[in-house]
Amino acid sequence: AKSGGRGAFRFFEPQLDELMHARRNLERDMRAALAERQFALHYQPFLNAATGETCGFEALLRWHHPQRGMVLPGEFIPLAEETGFIVPLGEWVLRTACAEAAKWPAHAKIAINLSPAQFRSEELVPVIVGALASSGIAPHRIELEVTETVIMHDSEAVFAVLAQLRELGVRIALDDFGTGYSSLSFLQRFPFDKVKIDRSFVDELSSARAEARHLARAVVRFAVSLGKTTTAEGVETKEQLDILREEGCGEAQGYYFSRPMPASDVARMLRRDEAI
Ligand code: C2E
Ligand code: CA
Ligand code: CA
Ligand code: CA
Repeated sequence: AKSGGRGAFRFFEPQLDELMHARRNLERDMRAALAERQFALHYQPFLNAATGETCGFEALLRWHHPQRGMVLPGEFIPLAEETGFIVPLGEWVLRTACAEAAKWPAHAKIAINLSPAQFRSEELVPVIVGALASSGIAPHRIELEVTETVIMHDSEAVFAVLAQLRELGVRIALDDFGTGYSSLSFLQRFPFDKVKIDRSFVDELSSARAEARHLARAVVRFAVSLGKTTTAEGVETKEQLDILREEGCGEAQGYYFSRPMPASDVARMLRRDEAI
């Protein structure tokens, strides 16, 4: 601000100052939260769309803030990304999710979200190797979810990391498919195992809307034609599920089946499934 001369002071309007203050507080709280064990993972099942069997669970971050109560990732992940805090936080997520999933029956997969900043850090592969080793979980049970943004940063470096990860035996899913710019070519170029069809496509689905259905059909068919597993996100109604199933979508996830739940509920759900 100093070298910016007089004009720069325009930026220090009270509102902006407040905003920066709030961000600093959030960042400070976030860093403390990891040490204070205020973060938790909730798990949302994804199911085989045809049979209804549970295929696995996606780990979703939750922050139990002592004053603010439960804070959702949308409120802190962007700042964690910008400040680099996502790297240690993401390491905690990887270790915690693998350790939890190692207790589940061996057919249950664990899906873990990775952010672009984690991909840029040199630590990603060693951290995953460490999480695999300390949990003892079989690598093929792990699905790492990445968005197109990850690849846009530096495709060659990212390609190399994706190749190393697949070498380890973990699976890679393209998250939020259909929301980006050049999703179709990305799908062909990068070695994804699975495609998660974004909620925005599923939202529109109802028998009254032929166009939405055609769009969903095109997306599913394209993914299937490339040999990818498909998961539809954000399924909230039976009607949406029926349409997706008819269009050949392999897996489904959403409030229609279950909201994300604490680890203790997952254990209970899996026990109940086994009893059947
Ligand atoms: P995402 O990976 O696309 O996760 C799906 C989001 O949709 C989750 O929101 C989930 O709770 C919500 N959802 C699931 N089913 C339904 C449904 O039927 N209807 C509606 N309306 N929503 C549904 P959540 O948990 O708030 O997470 C938001 C985003 O934060 C995630 O989007 C992901 O990008 C990010 N995130 C969450 N956990 C992590 C993490 O551990 N690491 C990283 N890097 N990002 C994370
Ligand atoms: Ca995801
Ligand atoms: Ca998603
Ligand atoms: Ca998303």
